[in-house]
Amino acid sequence: MITNRRNFLKSAGMLTAAAALFNPASLFAQKGSKKSGSSKVMKLEFEPYELQFKHAFAISTLTRTTTPIVLTKITYDGYTGYGEASMPPYLGESHASVLDFLKRVDLSQFSSPFMIEDIMAYVDSISTNNCAAKASVDIALHDLVGRIMGQPWWKIWGFDAADCPNTSYTVGLDTRDVIIEKTKEAAPYKVIKVKLGHDEATDKMLINTIREVTDTVICVDANQGWKDKNYALDMINWLAERNVNMIEQPLSKYMLDDTAWLTERSPLPIIADEACQRLSDVKKLHGAYSGINIKLMKCTGLHEAREMITLAQALNMKLMVGCMSETSCGITAAAQIAPKMEWVDLDGNLLITNDRFTGGMEIVDGKVTLSDRPGLGIEPIKA
Ligand code: MG
Repeated sequence: MITNRRNFLKSAGMLTAAAALFNPASLFAQKGSKKSGSSKVMKLEFEPYELQFKHAFAISTLTRTTTPIVLTKITYDGYTGYGEASMPPYLGESHASVLDFLKRVDLSQFSSPFMIEDIMAYVDSISTNNCAAKASVDIALHDLVGRIMGQPWWKIWGFDAADCPNTSYTVGLDTRDVIIEKTKEAAPYKVIKVKLGHDEATDKMLINTIREVTDTVICVDANQGWKDKNYALDMINWLAERNVNMIEQPLSKYMLDDTAWLTERSPLPIIADEACQRLSDVKKLHGAYSGINIKLMKCTGLHEAREMITLAQALNMKLMVGCMSETSCGITAAAQIAPKMEWVDLDGNLLITNDRFTGGMEIVDGKVTLSDRPGLGIEPIKA
């Protein structure tokens, strides 16, 4: 049936969606969320872009100043939805791999953007990996459908925006004076996130320096930086006495048995990040971790994120949503699930200098604040 429809569209000269070439000069240059045409064939377009960081970004394994992303948009019946793929190098994707993937996506075979389940199953079937590329289609599709419905996704799903928790603000490793300065800058936030996983003296210096400035609760992300379960337990016990309330990925994602040992003894919840990519990982992590960190770029977008939430809740696992370096598009998409999260780490758009959207999720008094605008509620701005 799909083949017949495709042949029909092809013969009618309407099969234009599959490999739309990007045109940076015009693609995202104007507001396009309202009626701008009337084709009832979904058309996917995309544009590579480079995000610039306000500060060099350091985790336990590397330091960077930019992240490649690809902006997507899907048009249908005069509506436009926006999406995004963010490709930090450790995910193994690049401009080339995402653009190659998106050129293979043919949405014209689907009669309606409301067929999110079927469309994302098809998109997922195109390749084994390319999760960020898949997420860029998923996000644009959700934005599009939300705009057609005239509602934001948190509302369509029946969530209460008032349930959104505070978001965290990252204070990175630096000299003592700069750490103090950055901690003071984080004052409007109710949660500070700290990346540990350096040597013991460095990790403790970072925490002690922040504690000279404030008692604000801290979330720790070790980014797999601790090499031994006994050392990790000692560090977690030390951190628990300093108003730290969770530990993200203390050990290598491959050390599942050691992590289970640690979680059993840890006074703080242990959350899987690198170990948790997709829905199929959740069940494997049950029992070894207290919860999972969902990121749209890892799990192919909102459709699968919703399934991960349902499964994790059924398994009594804790929930967190995180992000990569992203524009307000990806961040606002992730914010739609914030009402169901215990921890929210959505500061990716605050750490860049060249966002491409306005009207996204806002942080008000440290809290994630969702708008009533349809879809993601964002509008593109010129590069
Ligand atoms: Mg992490």
